[in-house]
Amino acid sequence: MSRSAHPAGPRHADVLPEGHYAAPPADLNTLDTRVWSRTVTRNADGAAEVGGLDVRALAEEFGTPAYILDEADFRARCRAWRAAFGHGADVFYAGKAFLSRAVVKWLHEEGLNLDVCSGTELAVALDAGMPAERIALHGNNKSTAEIERAVETGVGRIVLDSFQEIARVAAEADRQGKRQRVQIRVTVGVEAHTHEFIATAHEDQKFGLALAGGQAAEAVRRVLKLESLELVGIHSHIGSQIFDMAGFEVAARRVVSLLAEVRDEHGVELPEIDLGGGLGIAYTTDDDPREPQEIAKALGEIVTRECEAARLAVPRLSVEPGRAIVGPTAFTLYEVGTIKPLDGLRTYVSVDGGMSDNIRTALYDAEYSVSLVSRTSDAEPMLSRVVGKHCESGDIVVKDAFLPADLAPGDLLAVPATGAYCRAMASNYNHALRPPVVAVTDGRARVIVRRETEEDLLRLDVG
Ligand SMILES: *Cc1c(COP(=O)(O)O)cnc(C)c1O
Repeated sequence: MSRSAHPAGPRHADVLPEGHYAAPPADLNTLDTRVWSRTVTRNADGAAEVGGLDVRALAEEFGTPAYILDEADFRARCRAWRAAFGHGADVFYAGKAFLSRAVVKWLHEEGLNLDVCSGTELAVALDAGMPAERIALHGNNKSTAEIERAVETGVGRIVLDSFQEIARVAAEADRQGKRQRVQIRVTVGVEAHTHEFIATAHEDQKFGLALAGGQAAEAVRRVLKLESLELVGIHSHIGSQIFDMAGFEVAARRVVSLLAEVRDEHGVELPEIDLGGGLGIAYTTDDDPREPQEIAKALGEIVTRECEAARLAVPRLSVEPGRAIVGPTAFTLYEVGTIKPLDGLRTYVSVDGGMSDNIRTALYDAEYSVSLVSRTSDAEPMLSRVVGKHCESGDIVVKDAFLPADLAPGDLLAVPATGAYCRAMASNYNHALRPPVVAVTDGRARVIVRRETEEDLLRLDVG
């Protein structure tokens, strides 16, 4: 709808959002299980509870804003992925979505492996006891120090991203007298996001070695010649927040055709194929993500079919979900501050955080849901925009939301599905203190990442 079609100036109808928030939901008090972590309910007082704990008590004890992580849900999702893929496949959690020592411990206990993409992510993983052979190192510009540390600690695989890196990793493994297991990351020319995918995407991006034009085949040639590298497979990652399996189908077909080429040229059948992550989650009730069981079945069938057609033994499959595991397990708890109704437009509801704890709305135009969680309300729905407290008009947390018209300063709002890429991408803009991550389970809450303090910031600022 074009706004200029209404010369009389903005009226309510002009600013009504499209899609999910085109109309108010039937009941603003419902906490829909499609977007909230699985132990979230409302208690007899009307307040939301998670892991058996009232959000008002959590706000009181840990302050706001805070990320509240449902540990039971996190573990259940790990188990669902593990069970869906079974013993013939590996599930690598993509640590960049959210990494902390507690999370590493849970992953270890639940039998998942771990992707890291920096030396410091590797340090956290090792410190928390993840066995090195269950860690994969990613990155398009791994430093010499990062490569050295990865080889030294014996990570299970390094995913090679360029010709220069092949030489660097080989030299380092050589120097340490080791043979390093590696995969080659290829770009298959598929780009997938949410509901659509492009099967002929430009290879005009920084990751991987292109299948088209033979870069990937040349990388295989070089790696196979190097004594200090053991080429175990091919890696592909096609996008993020993907619901449609069609993009994976094209990617798998292209990766398998490379495996067949490698067999024909070198007489070698590579034993592993990694199809990356990028599986979508529900941010609003409009999103309809696939379950791990369906994803495993679809990927398994695609790879098996393509390998049979190419007369290849089916390689060991691995996947790398980040968002799909941690995303739905946490919500951000905020306190409402200033409320500013703009006549005929909408009401701006300011919360005590913003783009410093959730950059995704500003960065990707991401959609989120939001609910009043400290109480229920029977008031009329009010078209709202939930904004932060930062000095930037793009500091929006939830662009379009219906909240009850009796919303008042001091009420608690929660934004679900903030487990992935929120704390991980948090900043100190305006010297904001990055919020804590509080893990709740079975009536107990514990801080797994503490809130930053003024002293933390002043300590960095050496004057
Ligand atoms: C980011 C990334 C992932 C995880 O993506 P999600 O969207 O969080 O599932 C997996 N593999 C690679 C190589 C990535 O870069």
